[in-house]
Amino acid sequence: MITYDKIIIIGGGLVGLSAGCYLQLNGYETEIFEMHSVPGGLCTSWSRKDFTFDGCIHFLFGSNAPNQFFDMWQEIVDLKAMDIVDFDEYSHIVKGDESLSLYSDPAKLRDAMLAIAPEDKKVIGEFTQAIHDYCNIYVPIEIAHELIDMKVGMKLLPKIKPFMKFNKMWNISIEEFVNRFTNPFLRATLADSFEGGYMSLISIITSLSMMSTKTAGFPIGGSLKFAQKIEESYLKLGGKINYKQEVKKILVEKDKAVGILLENGETHKGDLVISAADGHTTIFNMLDGKFVNKKIKNNYKDLTLFRSIVQVSLGINRTFNDQHHKYSLFLDKPIVIEENNTIKRLEVLIYNFDPTLAPAGKTSVAAAIEAHNDEFWTNLRNTDRDKYRAEKDRISKEVIDRLDAFLGDIKSKVEVVDVATPATYIRYTNVWKGRYMGFALTPKGLTLRIKKTLPGLKNFYMIGQWIQVGGGLPTGLMSGRNVTQIICKNDKREFKTS
Ligand SMILES: Cc1cc2nc3c(=O)[nH]c(=O)nc-3n(C[C@H](O)[C@H](O)[C@H](O)COP(=O)(O)OP(=O)(O)OC[C@H]3O[C@@H](n4cnc5c(N)ncnc54)[C@H](O)[C@@H]3O)c2cc1C
Repeated sequence: MITYDKIIIIGGGLVGLSAGCYLQLNGYETEIFEMHSVPGGLCTSWSRKDFTFDGCIHFLFGSNAPNQFFDMWQEIVDLKAMDIVDFDEYSHIVKGDESLSLYSDPAKLRDAMLAIAPEDKKVIGEFTQAIHDYCNIYVPIEIAHELIDMKVGMKLLPKIKPFMKFNKMWNISIEEFVNRFTNPFLRATLADSFEGGYMSLISIITSLSMMSTKTAGFPIGGSLKFAQKIEESYLKLGGKINYKQEVKKILVEKDKAVGILLENGETHKGDLVISAADGHTTIFNMLDGKFVNKKIKNNYKDLTLFRSIVQVSLGINRTFNDQHHKYSLFLDKPIVIEENNTIKRLEVLIYNFDPTLAPAGKTSVAAAIEAHNDEFWTNLRNTDRDKYRAEKDRISKEVIDRLDAFLGDIKSKVEVVDVATPATYIRYTNVWKGRYMGFALTPKGLTLRIKKTLPGLKNFYMIGQWIQVGGGLPTGLMSGRNVTQIICKNDKREFKTS
């Protein structure tokens, strides 16, 4: 039997906190070391003057019942006690004179798409029917895949049969699917508006079906407040969290992880080390790349990553009551960033749905720009801070200009401007290349099962978005829960959730 008296967790992002909660619930003593001064990692918001700018949640899977993720969240945070906003639309696409609301209700979405593209009746029907059919489908998330043996697998089989029927949707990318449409507007706008054409079609089917069942909402107060709720649970369960404590190395003796060395020179010992920090840093810096195999190296070399973004956040002295909450806005006049990257689309979030993020009569607005060259931003910030600031300033002015032309009455009402680049995400969270969801949910990525252990290293686990292809908060929660299940099994303890 293995007994772990003390478990060290690196990283106080959503996943480190979730793992901490489940481990504490199961009687383990845990201590988190987090380099930033606040919890949440990428799940964050920040204040500028009277405004709060949100940097994460667009929709939280499992925000409401009935939903498998809801049941899981409920084990560590009381979502029922939180105010959640649900959206009728995924977003509203605008390109020139044409527009389309991507309604979360599949029947409404079908009618809206048919009104634009009657010639694509068959594909539209297939798409919206899949969203309808996917609602409340059972996915085996409650048990770590490492613990699914033949016996458990046979038991799960009848339950997962309906899910298996969607295999056609896993194996095709959004871009490939969108190419089946003949309508020029749908062909030109859908792939970009749905998170990126390289993703598996099932990713967007999942998002829309969850939104349609009102189980993918936004927690009022924003992402940091949400993370703080989980921190609160962790502390109540007796967990300990140390902020501004950057881990430099994982200490290894005789191929066993035995503790950590901090940047400030302190060492902390533990019977088990769990890294919930960025995967690349963990493997190649904290462990000096000593515990890898070809597969791990290839993952970090070949797998498609989620994009990174430049986010322009604006505090605006006006309301937007008559506007959609989210636009996929195709620009007549593109914006050039990173010297030669031409941006033709802005994703604009108008936080008119959360009054806590701005004073009365004012609104927080965020425009996300797809970035392609994270090195450009880190190099610029490291080598020429003035030029870096000037570039952020120029981009924000261009964004304000485009929003003014589109929404009207913006320019003179902007009170606060804040620009986050891939370098910002790296600075605050260490996230590799500023890619905020890790490995992308491509058709290939979807079939990957990344191990939580490293070859040749005992008493060590990795969890979080670099282990769970597709990243995101609910799968992060699952990863913290799953590692606890594995530890309990090794320790011959019954896994508890309360
Ligand atoms: C713009 C944006 C939009 C998003 N939208 C959504 C959404 O709508 N829905 C959704 O579910 N998800 C969304 N996500 C993704 C989600 O935020 C992430 O996938 C998730 O938060 C990852 O959690 P994590 O704990 O694995 O990683 P992280 O949040 O990266 O946490 C890692 C933690 O480790 C710390 N750390 C790193 N290195 C060290 C070190 N050496 N020593 C100590 N601490 C260290 C970091 O500071 C950080 O706190 C979005 C993210 C962004 C940025």
